[in-house]
Amino acid sequence: MTDTRAIALIMALRGQGITDQRVLSAIERTPRELFVDRPFGSSAYENTALPIACGQTISQPYVVALSTQELEVQPNHRVLEIGTGSGYQAAVLAQLCRMVYTVERHKPLLGAAQTRFRELKLHNVVTRHGDGFQGWPEQAPFDRILLTAAIPELPDSLVNQLKPDGILVGPVGQAVSAETNCQQLVKIIRTNEGTSMKRLIPVVFVPMVPGLPEVISNGSASGKKS
Ligand code: SAH
Repeated sequence: MTDTRAIALIMALRGQGITDQRVLSAIERTPRELFVDRPFGSSAYENTALPIACGQTISQPYVVALSTQELEVQPNHRVLEIGTGSGYQAAVLAQLCRMVYTVERHKPLLGAAQTRFRELKLHNVVTRHGDGFQGWPEQAPFDRILLTAAIPELPDSLVNQLKPDGILVGPVGQAVSAETNCQQLVKIIRTNEGTSMKRLIPVVFVPMVPGLPEVISNGSASGKKS
């Protein structure tokens, strides 16, 4: 039975203009409490971003819902996500499309997300430990690409991994601080003539960091920006 807190969250998302019933149902079926660290369990269904390991965040449900709605995902689609984080966004996408390919640079986050995908029997999510700036060339082209870390500007290397008529959604711009934020969630549609871009909402995402974290002597990742 759906948690009453999940139902309240769905009502809040509807109030914020999320109308795609498939997206709302996928969110309703995804137990967000499994994706947050134990101390934040009681806040799992609040409409806020929360901290996760390696100094990263699980996105606000509204931003997950809007990004997913704007991606216009179809059941036959193959979707690339950059920034697996907790795995929550990938779990929502997995219920709406054929295959999710998700890339994360922090190994501990990826390991925890893989365990969650197994527990939830989401067999159509495949993961890669790597630098998302490169996308996933061996599996390209994708019907849809979702970036869940902010990028100063969109590199051709990612846009070129979209099929013609493909859609990419992601945060573009630099967050100087929460007060002077310049990030926008944008929607890019690849056309035969090039690309068209629509600005959706201002957002605050963690940055997309090039390269992999340094591994320090005890074997754990330092999480230092490279
Ligand atoms: N989608 C996630 C939220 C991600 S937060 C969720 O649903 O929980 C952004 C994630 O992007 C972080 O986990 C961060 O480590 C990852 N990231 C940042 N730069 C990256 C890069 N170059 N390649 C792959 N992942 C990256």
